[in-house]
Amino acid sequence: MPSQACAEARALVASAHRITVLTGAGVSTDSGIPDFRGPAGLWTRDADAGRGSSLQAYLADAELRRLAWRAKLDSPVWTARPNAAHKALVELERSGRLRTVVTQNIDGLHQKAGSDPHRVLELHGTLHATVCLGCGATGPMRDALKRVAGGEQEPDCPRCRGILKSATISFGQELDGEVLRRARLAALDCDVLLVAGTSLSVQPAAGLVSLAAKAGAQVIICNAEPTPYDAVAAVVLHEPVGDVLPDLSSVPPSGGGRFSSWGDPSTWS
Ligand code: NAD
Repeated sequence: MPSQACAEARALVASAHRITVLTGAGVSTDSGIPDFRGPAGLWTRDADAGRGSSLQAYLADAELRRLAWRAKLDSPVWTARPNAAHKALVELERSGRLRTVVTQNIDGLHQKAGSDPHRVLELHGTLHATVCLGCGATGPMRDALKRVAGGEQEPDCPRCRGILKSATISFGQELDGEVLRRARLAALDCDVLLVAGTSLSVQPAAGLVSLAAKAGAQVIICNAEPTPYDAVAAVVLHEPVGDVLPDLSSVPPSGGGRFSSWGDPSTWS
């Protein structure tokens, strides 16, 4: 990590009392789950790979759904283990300053690493559950995948026989309003927004960066490549998240800084 930028990021983290983290697929590449837009990303290697990832295409094309179920069975997510970046965020949470992890990831690795599930907001849903596009019933993904492994090409909803899909947000699909509301609050209510492993090219997730900056937060962006929001950030680190996040999470709180504390309530008059 370049020493000047590194020192600035460490100083911001040291003086922060309320840290919100925004993560993307780059946080999980070291766990063997490819991202979309990085140099080895699924969409970088195959420009057509994202073609079927809209809700409209999924609903309209039975063959696409069958391929999607087959691909899910072989997903690296089921065997992936949390890496140094996920573990570093658990450490930061234990130091009492990390309030919320807003993630675009659908792999569940923050929770698997030990992040408090109540503090993890999955903006784009989760691959670990299914939802029926007819009646809205949800269920465990493992139940649907058992059926696929048993020979069903496209498992349907056990309740209404409707079209089943992973509980992830496809292009053209609305985000969960309550999850987005809480993510925006977390962006507004932080001293530091630490952004890690995301190209910041998907809205409304990327917009959280300017929201936090406008509300007065210091933004630290750690991503291997430039992002459209680098100019908004106080510090930009084009470095591996597996190096940067453990480094930042090991920074002790400075105890002072520009953020004041209300102190012990028993001393209030
Ligand atoms: P993206 O693919 O657009 O961008 C990932 C970024 O991370 C790239 O700029 C890449 O250079 C960078 N990167 C990769 N490995 C890195 C590392 N070790 N250190 C530092 N930087 C690294 O991903 P995104 O911005 O999260 O895009 C959003 C969409 O991708 C989301 O909808 C998300 O659901 C989906 N996605 C999720 C997963 C997952 O859950 N693990 C995997 C692939 C895609």
